[in-house]
Amino acid sequence: MPLEPEHAAARMKGIGGSELATVLHEYVAESGDKAYGCPLALYFEKRGVPADYPFEETGPVLRGIALEPMIANMYQEETGHTIRRLRHKVNKERSWEMVSIDRQIVGEPAGPGVLECKSVGQAIWFQIKAKGLPLSFVLQVQWGYHVLGPQYKWGAIAFLWADGWEYHSYPVERDQELIDLMAAKVAAFWKGVETESPPKKLKYKDPRCQACRWRSSCQGDDLIEAAGQDIESFEEADIDDALAPKVHHRMELKSIEKETEALRIEVEGEIVEGMGGREIVVAGGHRIIHKTIPGGFVVDTKRMKKNAPKVFDKWKKPKKDSKPLKFYPV
Ligand code: SF4
Repeated sequence: MPLEPEHAAARMKGIGGSELATVLHEYVAESGDKAYGCPLALYFEKRGVPADYPFEETGPVLRGIALEPMIANMYQEETGHTIRRLRHKVNKERSWEMVSIDRQIVGEPAGPGVLECKSVGQAIWFQIKAKGLPLSFVLQVQWGYHVLGPQYKWGAIAFLWADGWEYHSYPVERDQELIDLMAAKVAAFWKGVETESPPKKLKYKDPRCQACRWRSSCQGDDLIEAAGQDIESFEEADIDDALAPKVHHRMELKSIEKETEALRIEVEGEIVEGMGGREIVVAGGHRIIHKTIPGGFVVDTKRMKKNAPKVFDKWKKPKKDSKPLKFYPV
């Protein structure tokens, strides 16, 4: 469900579970997962700094909202656990610590538990299957245990990959050491929000900046510099918001493409390892060949142009004009 206005206003007063991966973004990156959030953008949000671009509920966000009840039912059917909704909770002593869990698990001997329901795309689904739970999701559940109290010692994350209609749930045990680290990091971040001490900017080439709602005011000149010689000034271009949904769609696809390519390379490495030096193997309905192809020669055209310009002129041939489609953040 979309956030109620009062819930949205309450979120401005502290840090919720889904924001933990942003506060601990360096740990997420160190774990090998992709870091999505930027602490400075979160700071801007909490300080109420007006954004350059409006918040848009993208397809994956809307999909997550629509499928949450279905995933919760799947978990209930799978485990037989009783689950129920729980209102937004705020820590009485540390008002910046807050949480809205997807469901509370009740009636089990281990005490109350936390259930998070995630609808994920293909890339994340295969990443989870290959490597297990991403740290960002684990942080969210652990934050739930922390804010709700020490009696919360267990829970689960239920995943649905809607396109493939595959479902899986993973248990998550309370990890007090991780919780203590999270609480300290969040307290330091919140102190920065209250004392107007913003966290560091990311490098302007970071992919997170390209889709950030504060990117113009935060990185403006550097983003223009990143555009190189193609564009002298963004001010001269037409603004055509009718194309915006297509541009967002293209950016999402590009990001999925990069992630799936990285996963494909990783799986191919595992297959090569599994082949153990064999050059040909038949598996999974495919003949897999991994043979050395003898190297050859290529012409170093730069050197030829410099050192043998007559030869270069004799053999060069015209190249057709091209018209690539390029995207630069503004
Ligand atoms: S532009 Fe980059 S550094 Fe600045 S707030 Fe956005 S993501 Fe963070």
